[in-house]
Amino acid sequence: CGVFGVYAPGEDVAKLTYFGLFALQHRGQESAGIATYEGTSVSEVSRYRNVAPLDLQVHLCKEMGLVTQVFSEQILATLKGGLAVGHTRYSTTGSSRVVNAQPAVVQTRLGPLALAHNGNLVNAGILREELLQQNAQLQTTTDSESIAFAVAEAVNSGMDWIDGAIAAFKRCQGAFSLVIGTPAGLLVTRDPNGIRPLVIGTLPDDERDRTSRYVVASETCGLDIINADYLRDVEPGELVWINEQGLHSVRWAEPETRKLCIFEMIYFARPDSLMHEESLYSYRLRLGKQLALENPADVDLVMGVPDSGVPAAIGYSRESKVPYAEGLIKNRYVGRTFIQPTQSMREAGIRMKLNPLRDVLVGKRILIVDDSLVRGNTSRKIVKALRDAGATEVHMRISSPPVTHPCFYGIDTDSQDQLIAATKTVEEIAHQIGVDSLAYLSWEGMLQATQTDPESFCSACFTGNYPVPVPEQVKRSKLM
Ligand code: 5GP
Ligand code: SF4
Ligand code: MG
Repeated sequence: CGVFGVYAPGEDVAKLTYFGLFALQHRGQESAGIATYEGTSVSEVSRYRNVAPLDLQVHLCKEMGLVTQVFSEQILATLKGGLAVGHTRYSTTGSSRVVNAQPAVVQTRLGPLALAHNGNLVNAGILREELLQQNAQLQTTTDSESIAFAVAEAVNSGMDWIDGAIAAFKRCQGAFSLVIGTPAGLLVTRDPNGIRPLVIGTLPDDERDRTSRYVVASETCGLDIINADYLRDVEPGELVWINEQGLHSVRWAEPETRKLCIFEMIYFARPDSLMHEESLYSYRLRLGKQLALENPADVDLVMGVPDSGVPAAIGYSRESKVPYAEGLIKNRYVGRTFIQPTQSMREAGIRMKLNPLRDVLVGKRILIVDDSLVRGNTSRKIVKALRDAGATEVHMRISSPPVTHPCFYGIDTDSQDQLIAATKTVEEIAHQIGVDSLAYLSWEGMLQATQTDPESFCSACFTGNYPVPVPEQVKRSKLM
């Protein structure tokens, strides 16, 4: 998912959030939502009226669909206020329905909170049971709503926003980057391992107020689009509280080892986002170079699977000196295939998406680079399309290691039986997807290319070495 928040009284925060979410669209395409806080007005905005009526101070619009489908100028104009929280969703827990869309809005004795969550709790079931025993009126089955109710429960027991939020965060295990709107300010945090990214930016200086106009976003591309300056990352286990007095930081957990999801780096985040002070484009170029060093091939052309395989393919081409070519043209308006929730939709999605260029491919030995091989469906279709278009040989190189384990922290890599590399050898996979040769980047190569401490990443989907313990029952749901 993508999360976004802005505190900027006097600005059109709904519009800023709209553009921020637009830049974060790749992180979730099922639903989009914005909540804004304004004085004491009452309103509800939902085209289909399927959002519960809300009380004081918060305006909310959330619907199924892309950001551009959910919001119009008219709707944005009704989302008034100086503080906004936004979310783009793809489901890892809870089904793909509008009740599960975010922000999740919950009433408390201190007014409504609006919560946007990226990540996945591993103790969601336990937390939910506890909350139900405390009589929480849960409307959905999402872990995100449980976090919202946990905060509300703490606040209603007499705590203030900060203590209440901290009490709730301590009940959560797993991955959570959170942006929480309250009538008193914006609350932001990351889990103690910082598995999902979250960055803070500042809006450009303004005559009226130079101190407290802040933006938070899952990735820096969400800051760039509204011309905000990157300030810093939210630290793992840090709570950031933003209100009219500016930005305050409270540490609520010992900084455990950082475990940023390596999949964010190799695939999920946008290539123009910065992590570790460089663009992921540069990192992905290095992955491709390393891939070429480890796995050369005698071919005529190197191509990337658009868009996510392209930077690594360019890196591969530069290192191997094999010319880079575009042999597949992508329809940019089709969402990422894997985000669609059902297998049949996924299969249809690929056919809509890529078209091979016959005159580039005919008679050529092609090496095609992709960032990851998860289920193998995309690859099999692409390879067939390339051969049908006249390629004489098709070799595949993957700029990450074989995905052998499911993710429990918020990336939808499915259960283990869906992962092609969990049961098959590289030769068997090559046979199944129909390539002349197949090779993956080594785990060491992937981590080396980060140029930072390899210990500071989660790479459990390649190793099964889960940094946050996953309860047995939860493990069993996805492991073979
Ligand atoms: P697959 O092998 O699953 O058919 O497709 C792999 C391709 O789709 C890669 O290009 C990758 O960018 C993307 N992809 C598909 N599904 C997933 C997924 O669940 N997680 C990630 N990270 N990437 C996926
Ligand atoms: Fe990322 Fe894989 Fe770890 Fe999940 S298991 S957080 S996808 S590295
Ligand atoms: Mg891809």
